Amino acid sequence: MTERIPCVNEGCDHKILPATAAKTGGYCMPCKQEMEREAYQRYIEANRRDVDLYEGITDAVQVLKIMHEPRIRDPLIRYIPYKYSMEQVYLTLSAEQQCEMKQYAMERIRSDDEDTGKDILMYLVCYHDLPLTVEIPELLEREILYPAVLFKGASVETRDHLLHQVNHDEENRNLILMMLAYIGDDVVVQQFWRWKRTQPTWASEMYVAPECYALQAGWELTQDGQRRELFITPSYSLYEVGETDARERVKGEPVSLLEPTSKHCPWCGGIFISLMNVHARHPALHSVDWRSSQLDVQTCLLCSSYGVVYMEMDGEGNPFWSEHNVKPDGLDDIDLEENKVEVSGMVSMILDDSAEGQRQQRLFHIASEPRQPFHGSEWAMEPSLSQVGGHPGWVQDAEYPACPACSTTMKAIGQLDGEMIQEYGEGMFYMFVCEPCQMTAVSYQQS
Ligand SMILES: [Zn+2]
Ligand SMILES: [Zn+2]
Ligand SMILES: [Zn+2]
Repeated sequence: MTERIPCVNEGCDHKILPATAAKTGGYCMPCKQEMEREAYQRYIEANRRDVDLYEGITDAVQVLKIMHEPRIRDPLIRYIPYKYSMEQVYLTLSAEQQCEMKQYAMERIRSDDEDTGKDILMYLVCYHDLPLTVEIPELLEREILYPAVLFKGASVETRDHLLHQVNHDEENRNLILMMLAYIGDDVVVQQFWRWKRTQPTWASEMYVAPECYALQAGWELTQDGQRRELFITPSYSLYEVGETDARERVKGEPVSLLEPTSKHCPWCGGIFISLMNVHARHPALHSVDWRSSQLDVQTCLLCSSYGVVYMEMDGEGNPFWSEHNVKPDGLDDIDLEENKVEVSGMVSMILDDSAEGQRQQRLFHIASEPRQPFHGSEWAMEPSLSQVGGHPGWVQDAEYPACPACSTTMKAIGQLDGEMIQEYGEGMFYMFVCEPCQMTAVSYQQS
């Protein structure tokens, strides 16, 4: 048997065959590989250059075209990010520039880069509510059938075409129903109402009744066949001050978010958090019929991530735990300590009431100008998601809770991004109200 010899690397106690040593200069394979990796790293660092694709470019349309350009990964190139996010650049577009971007998106689609083209159209529809009335027939012809929000500005002709097609196109029926829900005009509402009273023959092949598709677009049919909106408008962005300089360019005023309370959850014993406490007369809540001066949405973050948590209001508008709450299945089986949802910067206070002095202050703002109702609705586009008002950014299918007191579908009044609650936080907390019952609800979804 050949005698093994030690690796020449000091501090390595591997023994290797002389044949290996002859090939590697006396090093064991792990040491050899590590040295090669380090050498490569040194090479990259010595030769890497910064590339600023935006240098000298001031036109927002040009900036966006570069942003959407697929980038070849090259370890020797470090791309300098643009000073503003894609979302921020989109928001600066003039009407003329929006049109220019729309044309560019259609060009990309025609030259077989469907994904980029669709992305651009999504930003234009969500951030600017730009109707794609003229483009929609071409999208349909090219069999681009989702995301459904792109179709909300369809013409009367397209709507009628879709109303006809939905009866015959079994393969795309699901997507067509979604588009019709987004179009959602009187004719669509009437059709959904007729379907609700007399189910079409194809309804038995669907997972949900045709009229339920309305929920995906943020409305439902009332008992007498009218359209009822399920979210309030417009939308006001909620953001943390001091995150980055760029965010602070949005003008805003202080708002109370994520404040701990002194009340404890009867299910898990955790502390209730006031997710959002806004003056009821704030313009964001102009359409909400709220009896007290503040709308304070409190919840247990842990329990509401397992099921809907309802709160009622006392005479002064202070929230209290509703007797209607039903403990979700499985909550009894989880390790409460391990699953605790802590709010960043407020940990010390939750653990120990006396430690308030240690609490790190976080400052939040509500934007002073509203944004488009669908701005925060496509969470996968990574817009700034936290908001009062606006169409919810559902991570899963739309899920509006029913009020446990009166059975009415509750209205969405806002959402907080999990990332705002804690570093590396996931998912989204959704807030709802039932006005006649003065009740709030909080639910949660994650991918
Ligand atoms: Zn070694
Ligand atoms: Zn709880
Ligand atoms: Zn109710």
